[in-house]
Amino acid sequence: MSLSTFKLLRPRTLDEAIGYLAKHVDAGDSPARLRVIAGGTDLIPSMRQKLFEPEYVLDLRHVDELNGIRERQGSGVEIGALTSLSDIEQSALLRRRYPVLTEAAATVASPVIRNMGTIGGNICLDTRCLWYNQSLTWRKGCGFCIKKDGDLCHVAPGGTKCWAAFSADTPPALLCLSAEVEIVGPGGPRRIPLREFYTGLGDTYRVLQPNELLTRIFLPEATADYRGVYRKLRIRGSIDYPLAGVAVAMKRSNGHVADARVAITAVNPAPLLVKGASEALKGKVVDEALAEVVGGLAARTAKPLTTSALTPEYRREMIRVFTKRAVLAAGA
Ligand SMILES: Cc1cc2nc3c(=O)[nH]c(=O)nc-3n(C[C@H](O)[C@H](O)[C@H](O)COP(=O)(O)OP(=O)(O)OC[C@H]3O[C@@H](n4cnc5c(N)ncnc54)[C@H](O)[C@@H]3O)c2cc1C
Ligand code: SF4
Repeated sequence: MSLSTFKLLRPRTLDEAIGYLAKHVDAGDSPARLRVIAGGTDLIPSMRQKLFEPEYVLDLRHVDELNGIRERQGSGVEIGALTSLSDIEQSALLRRRYPVLTEAAATVASPVIRNMGTIGGNICLDTRCLWYNQSLTWRKGCGFCIKKDGDLCHVAPGGTKCWAAFSADTPPALLCLSAEVEIVGPGGPRRIPLREFYTGLGDTYRVLQPNELLTRIFLPEATADYRGVYRKLRIRGSIDYPLAGVAVAMKRSNGHVADARVAITAVNPAPLLVKGASEALKGKVVDEALAEVVGGLAARTAKPLTTSALTPEYRREMIRVFTKRAVLAAGA
């Protein structure tokens, strides 16, 4: 599967990158016109499958100011969007202060992909579906769908909505840490909580406009030093996207939970905080019964459909089981 022809834009600074965006795309344009590339570990396979055939590709790899992990005295940690997943996995600072993030990053794909893949690319990752992540020939043969070139959904026939699953590992960890993201476009920067970055729709899954970039991630001081656990279901243990994933971040005091958050991925069109989990855990001592309750809340938040090779029932059940195990591990 070859790549279609495109014009490669290679900025050296953020200003230059924004200049290219201002010149070549408007906020209302289809994202199909220009695609941003960071590590390329997801974009290039998708371009080969003709899911994207952009006229321009904006390569961020030489924008050094978007790379790196910086401690901000008394106000948490800032991570550049171009920071590789390997650098996050191996960061002693993050491992010590935000272990749920290093644990989640370490489960992404394989070491080679983590060397190339970036945290920004992981947050912006396209949603996935059995009927979508296929070659053009396959999709043509089986019939196109709402997410690309068609007007029906094979997963939920009769509906008008795309249910493709958001399947990245680090966003649930970042949600548990109450992370914020910086978005920069021709109009300047804005900063929003990560939970507001996703729309909950499988096709237009993020609020980022075609002329905007994700530039930085902020981890607040308030969630530093929380215990962290990430558990993930995948078909190939050595290298695979999550088909269900659970992150837990927990602070304890005198054996009781002082604060905690639980988030799930790969079972909805967006990564989600589990409703009611923080309230259920707060002030309690973690035991089997409590972990079971939180597992039930997570399973209720999960709405998997037949977007992957495993059945929705199995994926929802694994969300329950992994949440229970992760809560027990964080509370041990
Ligand atoms: C075999 C295989 C296994 C994989 N397994 C996993 C897995 O287990 N878990 C997982 O989470 N992922 C997995 N991936 C997907 C991918 O490798 C990672 O999600 C990676 O973090 C993507 O980062 P990237 O920099 O390579 O993104 P790219 O491929 O460069 O970009 C991904 C998307 O994000 C957009 N983008 C990237 N950076 C920015 C930015 N700064 N601003 C705006 N838009 C941006 C791109 O336009 C594109 O739409 C796998 C991929 C492969 C090929
Ligand atoms: S959920 Fe439906 S519309 Fe979305 S990619 Fe799958 S088949 Fe297509």
